[in-house]
Amino acid sequence: MSTDPKKSPALPDSLWAATAPSAPLCPPLSGDRSVELCVVGGGFTGLSAAYHAAEAGAEVALVEAAEPGWGAAGRNGGQVIPGLKLDPDDLERRFGAERGQRLVDFSGSAPDLVFELVAKHEIDCGARREGWIHAVHGRAALPLEEDRVRQWRARGAALEMLDRDQVAALLGTREYIAGMLDPRGGWLQPLAYARGLARAAQGAGVSLHGLSPATRIDRDADRWKIATPSGSVTAKQVLICTNAYTNKLWSRLSRSLIPVTSFMIATEPLSDELRSRILPKGHISGDTRRLLRYFCMTPEGRLALGGRGHIRESDRRELYAHIVASMHMLYPETANTRLDYFWCGRVALTLDHLPKIYELGSGMWSGGGYNGRGVAMATAMGQLLARCAGGEASDSLPLPPTKPRPLPFHSLRVPAIGVAVGWKRLLDAWEVRRR
Ligand SMILES: Cc1cc2nc3c(=O)[nH]c(=O)nc-3n(C[C@H](O)[C@H](O)[C@H](O)COP(=O)(O)OP(=O)(O)OC[C@H]3O[C@@H](n4cnc5c(N)ncnc54)[C@H](O)[C@@H]3O)c2cc1C
Repeated sequence: MSTDPKKSPALPDSLWAATAPSAPLCPPLSGDRSVELCVVGGGFTGLSAAYHAAEAGAEVALVEAAEPGWGAAGRNGGQVIPGLKLDPDDLERRFGAERGQRLVDFSGSAPDLVFELVAKHEIDCGARREGWIHAVHGRAALPLEEDRVRQWRARGAALEMLDRDQVAALLGTREYIAGMLDPRGGWLQPLAYARGLARAAQGAGVSLHGLSPATRIDRDADRWKIATPSGSVTAKQVLICTNAYTNKLWSRLSRSLIPVTSFMIATEPLSDELRSRILPKGHISGDTRRLLRYFCMTPEGRLALGGRGHIRESDRRELYAHIVASMHMLYPETANTRLDYFWCGRVALTLDHLPKIYELGSGMWSGGGYNGRGVAMATAMGQLLARCAGGEASDSLPLPPTKPRPLPFHSLRVPAIGVAVGWKRLLDAWEVRRR
């Protein structure tokens, strides 16, 4: 399979790019080399996989098309969110009691792994753990949140429901009728975390190569040969960690995921008065809308807010208008606040809202499809992929590897998503009006 080598794009002009510690040195691959494991893609999934495989003793090379954290990993809202879109009871119904329970434990503890890695490697990324508030936008969503709290509490997690006044006090807006507080959640500066993970991987012995897009992957006797414009890697095992940025490198993989765009804005640093009212205790939050909004306060006191919108990535300011409008609706007091940053990136969705480990061939796996919850999940999935590469039987993994299943009509996804976005926006607005 092949893809055209492209000139490496620059990092988007995001708040994270402006404030992250400098990137580690990752020289392009040069010449041909042979290793046990080649990781393709240097986001959280690839960096975590490479780090954990090297820690377990493997000889690992990672090739990244641009630089570590260039993709969604370095552009996201930094929200470290526990769990999956599906609730524990649902996971146990789908996967059976025993494996379902393992998947529940795996997804619920994914933030622990993130904060442990940050602490162990002293990653300078402003990590904090005040909890995640899932804010309820309308009456229809309320019983679902209450049930989620019940399910997780039955499994020992200290989630709690917040009433209208409590959620208003913690978020600084009266837009929500209730909320769910999950103390396992937290925040970090995502590009700083990605760069810290890259340094940790290098420290564990990973050869990390930036500006090295994999252009072909071919079977060569009992090994794989990964070609880049300036060299190649021959490896017994390959982990493709390109997720929503997969393109044509492995077309069955890219056609199994649905890439959508998420847009973010960040304000100028707010006054002390505004900071004392908006997210005063440092929680992170997202809401229960179908087209969710997510928001946080950064360490310098900027309000950063994001949400889905137009399908394609773009810098055109008009595509951010709905995000700006959301901010003004939630926080009317920011009407005259300057906006300093606008950026976007790609998120990979799956039809069943579950993340995937795909087995692509003998000794080749891929992980992705985190449905917008990849800070914790990609880190944890990277560790799982390293276990796959380490020879662990798939029966013992919390998420069974499956074959990619290209979606029918994948080429029609752009107009289809456009229609779906419009429809979801209407439903959200209708539910807000009924509350
Ligand atoms: C704007 C935005 C906000 C988000 N907010 C949150 C949030 O607050 N919380 C949360 O949990 N999740 C959030 N997400 C989702 C989260 O960022 C992703 O799920 C996560 O970063 C996925 O990590 P990854 O390593 O799998 O993929 P990516 O970080 O996208 O990495 C893929 C990498 O593969 C590289 N690549 C592609 N093709 C090749 C090739 N041929 N050869 C070599 N390298 C290649 C790319 O350059 C890229 O660096 C958000 C996403 C976006 C875009």
